[in-house]
Amino acid sequence: MPECVPGIHHVTAICADVQRTVDFYVGVLGLRFVKQTVNFDVPDTYHIYFGDRLGSPGTALTFFGWPHLPWRAAGGGQVGVVALAVPERSLGFWAARLRGLGVEASRGERLGAGFVGFEDPDRIRLELVGQASDERWNQWPDSPVAPEHQVRGFHAVSLAVVEEEPSAHFLEQTMGFREVGRDGGRVRFETGSGGPQAILDLVVDPAAGKGEEATGTVHHVAWRAVDDAHQLAWREVIAGTGRPVTPVIERKYFRSIYFREPGGVLFEIATDQPGFTVDEPAASLGSELQLPPQHEERRDSLKVNLPPIAVPATVGRGTGG
Ligand code: ZN
Repeated sequence: MPECVPGIHHVTAICADVQRTVDFYVGVLGLRFVKQTVNFDVPDTYHIYFGDRLGSPGTALTFFGWPHLPWRAAGGGQVGVVALAVPERSLGFWAARLRGLGVEASRGERLGAGFVGFEDPDRIRLELVGQASDERWNQWPDSPVAPEHQVRGFHAVSLAVVEEEPSAHFLEQTMGFREVGRDGGRVRFETGSGGPQAILDLVVDPAAGKGEEATGTVHHVAWRAVDDAHQLAWREVIAGTGRPVTPVIERKYFRSIYFREPGGVLFEIATDQPGFTVDEPAASLGSELQLPPQHEERRDSLKVNLPPIAVPATVGRGTGG
């Protein structure tokens, strides 16, 4: 088996209103808006990215802006909750900040860590978990949230599945994840060196209805490949199980393969390279619409369907570069 995937690369969800999403993730959660581009397969729709200062793998939360889709609650075969890591001492700050900005937030504790649970404007379920690893996080000095409280990237993804065994077997026997804890219908797995950014929870609910691709849902979770060879090795392993897997697809900021785990959740394995500075400098990430070469000649006609995005004014704590 190749080296395990070290953790989450990015998570992609579906929103109805990109401006509302930008206002929330930048203005409320204090993430940096690192890229505005189009969905490479549906190029008259936005694909927007948030993250740390550079959108480092392990911090990139992305959205397809698909206003024409209906809203649905997440169901079986989908990521039901996206958990982000914050320092443990920041949970009180975050609960107060969210409530102060009109976001209903509840506090809880699970598997040894406290968390604040809430929903984004499309009612996607989020958690801020007070268990942060700073290893792969690049502080964004212009965030409206002070550095000591800033989101440190992902903590975990929770997959809603109807049955435990098929997904657990695939995670452990094919992908090399390890079971590390249980809490009711929740089974926790880790990959790589474990800890925040490397956690996957299976949340087993035999009564869960099958989720649909809709606004308010997570589209897929991408796992990290450290380089192209690592990704190709994993492609061979997945293909060897008889599970359909795409060829390597060029996504400009990374290269990707896609497949579904047995519970139905869409997985991607994405390379750490080349990252978001491939087409604009770090200081101005997210400031202009970026298109992949295959769609550049249609820029003017595509822009008709893509209303300009206004990024909320930030506090200018530093250089921003
Ligand atoms: Zn993706």
